[in-house]
Amino acid sequence: MKCPICLKFNYNYNDTISILCKFCKALINTKANKYNYYNHGEQNLPDKNKRMMRLKNSQSRFDIIKNFCKGEDLFIDIGCGSGEMLEIAKKYFKNIIGYEHGKILFNSLKLKYNVYNRNFNIKDISNLNKENGIVISICHVLEHNFNPVNLIYKIINKIKYPVLIYIEVPLYTGYSFKKYQYNYKLWYDQHLALYNMKTLEFISKKLKLKIIDSGFRVFYSDNINKKEIIKLLFANTCEFIKSLFEKKTHSNIMDYVKKDYGYILLKN
Ligand SMILES: [Zn+2]
Repeated sequence: MKCPICLKFNYNYNDTISILCKFCKALINTKANKYNYYNHGEQNLPDKNKRMMRLKNSQSRFDIIKNFCKGEDLFIDIGCGSGEMLEIAKKYFKNIIGYEHGKILFNSLKLKYNVYNRNFNIKDISNLNKENGIVISICHVLEHNFNPVNLIYKIINKIKYPVLIYIEVPLYTGYSFKKYQYNYKLWYDQHLALYNMKTLEFISKKLKLKIIDSGFRVFYSDNINKKEIIKLLFANTCEFIKSLFEKKTHSNIMDYVKKDYGYILLKN
């Protein structure tokens, strides 16, 4: 079976469900299906409460990204879903565009935002200000795609301006996968693999992009459970204290205790 990320053949089966890739360290899901997201598999429209959570989650991503921004004009969200990153981006950018394959999601966004129901095309940004640079976010997209290196390359290779790329993916090295294993809600047939931070480094190296920051995240609603923080503290005090020391100023405690998602910030 070919690894969906490094494209090397790998015969070291972990078990029948997963393969740990010895080259890029991804945990490959042998039961994953290749979806055509134009036709099926898109996420549901969020209710009011879920939307609020996603807005807060998007804000916490921008709390990381804005530390590295230098007055960029344009924000591009690849796989913009229900549009919360586009909404928060209004605070920071004059020009904002999004891409979403899911038809229902796209239709819910098209009157409010500058969005496209297809892949990125360099012509889409020809009339937009971008001389001061472009910020691109690719959140929870790579794990759905075969050959994510090529996906990113096709977006950035024709851009002649400074680009900052924020990538976020689910990790198998985090607390939730360790606890729930193949019952983890993010281990399902749409995810071709779950990542390791080394997998993100592999992708950066392949694309010859410079890593300017990396770290851990959890979804906003997963990080407010105080009881769980106390449980984790007593379950593994050394690990917990180590996490507090590694924590970056723009992250919260749960990001570094659970480490369920990894992010990486790259520039060209
Ligand atoms: Zn691999």
